[in-house]
Amino acid sequence: MILTYCYRIKPSAHQITLMSNTLELLRRHWNYALGQRLDALNRSRCQIDRCSIVSEPIGEIPERINYYTQQADLKQTKILFPDYKNIWAESQQVNLQRLNKAWERWLIPDAHGRRGGRPRFKKPGELRSFVYPRVNCPKAGAYLQLDNRLKLSKIGEMPVIMHRPLPEGFVLKTCTIVCKADGWYCCISMQDNSVPQLLPLDEVESAVGLDVGLKEFLTTSDGDTVAIPQIYRQTQHHLARQQRKLARQKKGSRRQAKKKNHIARIHQKIERQRKNFHYKTAHKLVKNFDLIGVEDLNIKGLARTRLSKSILDAAWGAFINILEAVAVKRGVRVVKVNPHSTSQNCSGCGHKVLKTLSVRLHDCPKCGLLMDRDENAAVNILNRAISEVGLILPVRGGLGVALPVKREAFLEFDGSQLSFSKLEAPVIPQG
Ligand SMILES: [Zn+2]
Repeated sequence: MILTYCYRIKPSAHQITLMSNTLELLRRHWNYALGQRLDALNRSRCQIDRCSIVSEPIGEIPERINYYTQQADLKQTKILFPDYKNIWAESQQVNLQRLNKAWERWLIPDAHGRRGGRPRFKKPGELRSFVYPRVNCPKAGAYLQLDNRLKLSKIGEMPVIMHRPLPEGFVLKTCTIVCKADGWYCCISMQDNSVPQLLPLDEVESAVGLDVGLKEFLTTSDGDTVAIPQIYRQTQHHLARQQRKLARQKKGSRRQAKKKNHIARIHQKIERQRKNFHYKTAHKLVKNFDLIGVEDLNIKGLARTRLSKSILDAAWGAFINILEAVAVKRGVRVVKVNPHSTSQNCSGCGHKVLKTLSVRLHDCPKCGLLMDRDENAAVNILNRAISEVGLILPVRGGLGVALPVKREAFLEFDGSQLSFSKLEAPVIPQG
């Protein structure tokens, strides 16, 4: 399992200058390397049905550009621009690896045939993090010491605020230094050899279906609701006022920079409040149920409608990711089901009862079932989830309201039988 913990660091003014300088140099190098790749691509391809004077290689055919050629060029970069000697060499390599990843994501489709967008040139200040790919090992660039100090090569030693201890039994892997609106952070990723075990199906005692919505954040199949906090909506007038103030500042001035940072901090607060709410809700659900059924929503599609601001403010997608991460740690199953007509079908008899969004009550003319619209949908989702995993349980009332049972979260296994890479190693977001 891989975890990432983020801690605030307290660099000195001189160290901040060094780190900002590192980010700026890496940004320029990113732009150069991206330009080199795009140029090589443009010069060596031509549309299939024409002979182009723009795209055809003239003279010598440019050599193939890939990660390895670019990494080999780093030596030359350091000779031409001695400033690059002040950056840890591995950080520069990771910077190129990141570009290579984005590049391949753009050109090579994944299993679903989807590709990412074209990697972009970065404006000043857009590159906000750099990586030390080795921590606390021989030849590492970063050392997290026991006295809560972080030692970074080429930058120096600085205090770390360890607001929570590192988990035991994990090996520290990488250290990413991030510049956020409210200061600098180090994100430590670590790994151990445990593989979270899902609860066996015959031990599943309680299950629940969740219907997410805009009236209530979610409705469970038991009829409980969680109110929607609408964090962005509460702050948007304040935010708009600050943005108007920013527009009045002189470009490039000190005050403009200050105002920009103020606005960035407002956004950061919104993000943190939302994340906090998501984690609390997820923990509450995972504590009480062994199996959770959710809709597999197309958030991008939904966010193109008129309700986009509310949908993005609720951030169901982020919530479901967090729910899955929290559930994996406890062995709880999260089952994603097809959301097609879950709110229209009757959960009692399966009859399709068409209703618009404003109709809040489900009233089945066939079997006479009368219940809240969202609850009906949640029951449908629960039924689908149960049939998907092949659990044979009475639809309603059959599942006892079992008290949460304390159990071992992970089972250790010895690596002799199975290599770690063959097993799922879920990446769990910090928090
Ligand atoms: Zn019915």
